[in-house]
Amino acid sequence: LEAKEEFEHSSLAVDVMRPRRSDPALAVLTQESMTVGEVETLVESTHYSGFPVVVSQESQRLVGFVLRRDLLISIDNARKRQEGVVSASQVLFTEHAPAQDPDGPPPLRLRGILDLSPFTVTDHTPMDITVDIFRKLGLRQCLVTHNGRLLGIITKKDILKHMAHIANRDPDSILFN
Ligand code: ADP
Repeated sequence: LEAKEEFEHSSLAVDVMRPRRSDPALAVLTQESMTVGEVETLVESTHYSGFPVVVSQESQRLVGFVLRRDLLISIDNARKRQEGVVSASQVLFTEHAPAQDPDGPPPLRLRGILDLSPFTVTDHTPMDITVDIFRKLGLRQCLVTHNGRLLGIITKKDILKHMAHIANRDPDSILFN
């Protein structure tokens, strides 16, 4: 990424992040209140490469980030091999299991595939700083928060598109490595 001055200190993370105002809401998973079936439905209804995991829909407190690929592989493996894991099983990203219905199916524990420290910036972080962080840390995506609440996501491609938009150039002509 070059030409930092193109951002002119005017673009902020909130200007580049998704969802846009008119987009559907950010697709998130909750840490302990979704079933295997609900997670599968959400993942299969989108093409996103990953999903933030939050404490609850109400709090939108970020817990971590999970890759689509890891989710699908883990669920598939569990359905094949793990005794009793079915669509109604709870998916748990927490360290400790909440009290379980003794008659219900066993939960599917997925903390192992959770990135517990996804990179985050606040909505007011200038894009030149965000771009620097992407480059220096080799990020593929970064989450955006406001007062600790998850607001959105910025992917490497979102940044490229934004830069191309500013420079009025084809995104494929800009190197990002
Ligand atoms: P890429 O940007 O490389 O195509 P994705 O397929 O993950 O990566 O994302 C496609 C678009 O959807 C991007 O604009 C990104 O900001 C947005 N996005 C990514 N993950 C989510 C999500 N969980 N919920 C809503 N939008 C997302």
